Amino acid sequence: MDYDLCVIGAGPAGYTAAISASKMGLKTAIFDANTPGGVCTNRGCIPTKTYLETARLLKQVSNAKRFALNVERWSCTLSSLKKRKDRVVSRLAKGVEYLLKENNISLYTSLAEIIDRNTVRSDNEVITTGTILVATGSRPKVMPPLDTEHVWTSDNVFDVDELPSSLLIVGGGAIGMEMAEIFSALGTEVTVVEHMDRILPMEDPIVSEEMTNILRHITILTSSRVDAIHTDSKAGEFEVSIKGPEDNVNLRTEKILVSTGRIPNVPRELLEMGIELNARGGIKTGPTMETSIRGIYAAGDVTGEYMLAYVAMKQGKIAAENISGHRKTMDYDYIPSVIFTSPEIASVGRPIEELRGSKKGVFPVSALGRARTMEENTGFAQIYTSSSGKMERITIVAPHATELIGWAALALRKGMNIDEFLSVTFPHPTISEILKEAAEDVLGLSIHKP
Ligand SMILES: Cc1cc2nc3c(=O)[nH]c(=O)nc-3n(C[C@H](O)[C@H](O)[C@H](O)COP(=O)(O)OP(=O)(O)OC[C@H]3O[C@@H](n4cnc5c(N)ncnc54)[C@H](O)[C@@H]3O)c2cc1C
Repeated sequence: MDYDLCVIGAGPAGYTAAISASKMGLKTAIFDANTPGGVCTNRGCIPTKTYLETARLLKQVSNAKRFALNVERWSCTLSSLKKRKDRVVSRLAKGVEYLLKENNISLYTSLAEIIDRNTVRSDNEVITTGTILVATGSRPKVMPPLDTEHVWTSDNVFDVDELPSSLLIVGGGAIGMEMAEIFSALGTEVTVVEHMDRILPMEDPIVSEEMTNILRHITILTSSRVDAIHTDSKAGEFEVSIKGPEDNVNLRTEKILVSTGRIPNVPRELLEMGIELNARGGIKTGPTMETSIRGIYAAGDVTGEYMLAYVAMKQGKIAAENISGHRKTMDYDYIPSVIFTSPEIASVGRPIEELRGSKKGVFPVSALGRARTMEENTGFAQIYTSSSGKMERITIVAPHATELIGWAALALRKGMNIDEFLSVTFPHPTISEILKEAAEDVLGLSIHKP
């Protein structure tokens, strides 16, 4: 046997599993024809957050007077921003490569094909292994009529270095709204089309309402879908027909970006071997991440579950632990959601539809001292508890919400009630006080609530 474990795909699921398995003593190999780090590092989490950080700064600079700053001249081009992104991405991808090497993992920079549950072929080399972990990720879902040439997806939008004057974003989910924020901050006229009746439909309705209000500079068409597109190559534009709730809307746009979800990359060989799939079209796994084929495990976007890097890493680690003989099970409880718009959005807990009859506390960002020092005044935090005070759901729309939610998740994971949560001393002046005040508001005792 050449290896104890062969990992196919060096994205967050694959590299986490490989490093974890190697640390637990398994002889491990990993395969990826692309740069290590997967979609997350190269075309997903990291590029978007790099662009968004600059977009956030741009907003602050354009608001410089409020910060008592006299900024006379500033500019930002997409090509300089792309260069910054390439530098950040390249550093992190090299970091993944370094970690693989440091942990004595053999990196094959080629595609891998599964021959059977103990054999992998890569670049005509046949490699034998005790176990296989499939971590082949996902790809953008592009449905007709959008499956036409020159329509962007997240796969190629980060290669673009010329800013379009107008951009139609199809899909108002987390990725679509992050992209809307980026392009509109850079000066593009952005329109978002969302087929549900609100943007960010996976978040609480009040979040969609608040963000629709905040993002007034972006045209948002809800309950709408792209019906037809025509390329006007002379004008270098698309003519798009959008079916709205009442009438059709026709618009011209220089570019179109599709962000309507992703499809798991299930290797063809596994389909031929009859691997079981789940309702999302991903590879079905049990709680140990083993698939319906014994000895073959799967983790990350290929399982179709959540499609988030932090879930992928957790699944990868659970798979590695089981492959190494430590029985651990994957649980999907209290997985936070994060969206890096401005303000940021984060939530954790039971879905809001299950919380009818619960108690609720709310606190606005505008009443926080720290937010005022940051010239921020939009957003809120909302905490739901059961009638006995057990914390059930926390939603935050505020600066640094994505940082706060980890601690909120810990409180919910540990089954804390409001009194236990409030036994913590929250530092002042911080954005974290929004959680204290919202928790106090559940009891009707918030000090600073207007
Ligand atoms: C624009 C965008 C923004 C995002 N932002 C966030 C975010 O802020 N936070 C977050 O948690 N998630 C985010 N995501 C989702 C996140 O990127 C994915 O959930 C994550 O990358 C999944 O990791 P993975 O390891 O399962 O797969 P991937 O990262 O897709 O990696 C799979 C790897 O497998 C390789 N591969 C495929 N087939 C083979 C084969 N046969 N042989 C060898 N190698 C193969 C591919 O080359 C790829 O490198 C974002 C995604 C996008 C598109």
